[in-house]
Amino acid sequence: MLLLTPGPVQTHPSVRAAMDEDIAPWDAEFRPFYTSLRERLRDIAGGVEGVHATLPLQGSGHMILEAAIRTYVAPGATILVPMNGEYAVRIARLAREAGRVVVELPAEDTHAITPGAVAAALDAHPEATHLAMVQSETGSGIVNDPAVIGAVVRAAGRRMIVDAVSAFGALPMDLAAQPEMDAVVFTSNKCLESVPGFAFAVARMDRTEECAGQAGSWSLDLSDVLAQARRSGWGSLRFTGPVQTLRALEVALDRLDAEGGPAQRLTRYRANAARLYAGLCALGLRPYLNQAEQGPVVVTFHQPDGMDFHGFVGALKARGVNISAYYTTEAPTFRVGAIGDVGLAEMDRAVAAIAETLAAMGKLPAAA
Ligand SMILES: *Cc1c(COP(=O)(O)O)cnc(C)c1O
Repeated sequence: MLLLTPGPVQTHPSVRAAMDEDIAPWDAEFRPFYTSLRERLRDIAGGVEGVHATLPLQGSGHMILEAAIRTYVAPGATILVPMNGEYAVRIARLAREAGRVVVELPAEDTHAITPGAVAAALDAHPEATHLAMVQSETGSGIVNDPAVIGAVVRAAGRRMIVDAVSAFGALPMDLAAQPEMDAVVFTSNKCLESVPGFAFAVARMDRTEECAGQAGSWSLDLSDVLAQARRSGWGSLRFTGPVQTLRALEVALDRLDAEGGPAQRLTRYRANAARLYAGLCALGLRPYLNQAEQGPVVVTFHQPDGMDFHGFVGALKARGVNISAYYTTEAPTFRVGAIGDVGLAEMDRAVAAIAETLAAMGKLPAAA
């Protein structure tokens, strides 16, 4: 089965095989291993030793996002969220339910956020201490640029949190150049090409310590994760986590290094996404995004009129290709991931399977 959901992704067999061992997470051998993994992730984020730290949390992307919001945005404080996609909607919900005030910056899910719109919104909302932004919007495929938006946030004297869950490991991130960034958050199972299990923030240590005590949650308090590291060492965990998945992540990071790092991985993903985009266009299908807005992570297309979506996903799976079983755009769409341990051959296989499936359903536009 070819897994082309935009996370979890197709992993290399060596990544999965690394989990085939029982681990004692509190023993002496585990500690240097965990410490080095944290340093490697900090380095991928462009973090600086002594300034930034990797703060892991077991669980999913939503959990690390909620933890970052709770940790860095004070209770009752205001956070500005540019609303150009489903994952922005989720940030807004997580923040509201945590008792933070959300100001939504309305935006279309077919265009990247512009620095001008953010500057105007920050100007209109001096009470907003933070901006939270999605780097790669996995609902549509567009990419927002944290460096460009961060410059505006920095100039306005505000702070920033970036959801890089479907970006980290491929799209650029340079924390050293972005002092306005409190934290960037991500998981092991998207562009890092490992299995789900752990989520991570790479964060400023000074801000994390300043913010101690305001999370309103022990489990989701990143300042407590840092305090634990200070107290008991960078190799220590607070609570039992899915530590076998950290072994998988180590192999996945080795593979990222072997590929040449995030820039090379991005090149592969761009080629994958371009192949999917062109292949699906050639079938007569209509892309959700203009080519200029199409990011490298997930490709979204309008469904042919009157198509049975769940029937399509099921029939495609029967042909060996597993895509996301839901869509989050207003218009009916389907989306195919371009990320994971996959290349052009897999993209071609996916396009061929989509063509066959639609033809069998009588919904192939090119044949109509
Ligand atoms: C996948 C994803 C999430 C949520 O991750 P879960 O692990 O499913 O909780 C958050 N933000 C973005 C941009 C994502 O792609």
